[in-house]
Amino acid sequence: MLGRHPWVFSGAIRTITAEPASGETVNVLSDRGEWLARGAYSPQSQIRVRAWTFDPDEQVDVAFFQRRLAHALELRKRLAMVWPTRAFRLCNAESDGLPGVVIDRYGPWFVGQFLSAGAERWKAEIAAAALKVLPGSGFYERSDVEVRAKEGLPQTTGVLAGKEPPELFEIDDNGPRMLVDIRRGHKTGMYLDQANNRREVRRLVQMSRGDVLNAFCYTGGFGLHAAAGQASRIVQLDQSADALEVAQENATLNEYINEFEYIQGNAFDELRRLREAGRSFDVVILDPPKFASGAAQLERAAGAYKDINLLGAQLTKPGGWLLTFSCSGHMTPSLFSQVVADALVDAGRDGQVVQPLTQSPDHPVSIHYPEGHYLKGLLLRV
Ligand code: SAH
Repeated sequence: MLGRHPWVFSGAIRTITAEPASGETVNVLSDRGEWLARGAYSPQSQIRVRAWTFDPDEQVDVAFFQRRLAHALELRKRLAMVWPTRAFRLCNAESDGLPGVVIDRYGPWFVGQFLSAGAERWKAEIAAAALKVLPGSGFYERSDVEVRAKEGLPQTTGVLAGKEPPELFEIDDNGPRMLVDIRRGHKTGMYLDQANNRREVRRLVQMSRGDVLNAFCYTGGFGLHAAAGQASRIVQLDQSADALEVAQENATLNEYINEFEYIQGNAFDELRRLREAGRSFDVVILDPPKFASGAAQLERAAGAYKDINLLGAQLTKPGGWLLTFSCSGHMTPSLFSQVVADALVDAGRDGQVVQPLTQSPDHPVSIHYPEGHYLKGLLLRV
């Protein structure tokens, strides 16, 4: 707390006066009685308090949420990310000073996730504040996320303000048009955190125009950018048939004439199959889901990352690009690099990191909250 980290763990608390309700605003004092912060109380979570403010004069009310969201919007405007047809993250939770509050914007629609007791307590006010700072058609809640259980909260979805969003909504992903299923898609509909890296793929492909393998493609984003960069052939691979269906619709929507190949299956098997078939690619993208959701699974996760990267490297033509990612917060950048290095050794390949990759700038990381940096990646020439 003294370092402005927004969390107070249950073990760090000596006494609690009164019996605050879930999400209620409480004052946090040091053991010497100095005021430290004002935050939201969460009786069931290990993270017992999440700080809303470190300013003793700042009250937590409707105006507070409007101020925070206006501040967040100003950053995205300065980053030139606020366009009527684009999608961006307006509020990145702790890193935007609103613990547990994730708000994304798709065209005129807000989609929010309320991940903590405090966020839950204020969600109606937060939705109204969001629409106040950036007017739009509505605010849809996607709090269908497991972490809510840790806060004693049920999973829930639905309209919080304004109108019901359409079945599929089209956005402009910095070039390619993409369909987003706000109600059922992953996260709040799509992976906004990879937006800049998708653009990077387009740039790289423009130089070589070769074959691209997009493993764990979801609705095809990286592959669409590769197509826009004039890749000759693009393999889109995912285990989800539904995601691949949208990926195909996206390719049609953009009228791309590049050759697309869709592979539905488990990447661990399918990449091996491609290798056995003697296939190779100029650009290989590996964007797997979170393999470790806790420190306990880290070792197993490292093994999975190594397998995938070994196969990915073997499928990359000599001198080709390998873009590899991990979105597991528990996997540190140095550990991830080590795992990829081990995979390259086993693949008998050399590798140069040309650029470390990270989440897009509308997913900023508060310097006091390093946990906010969860997406890391490497652009390697192998
Ligand atoms: N690169 C995408 C996001 C990828 S999310 C983008 O920029 O939009 C991870 C994807 O991996 C999900 O679509 C999920 O369906 C898929 N997936 C998870 N486990 C898998 C596996 N074992 N094999 C293949 N795909 C898998």
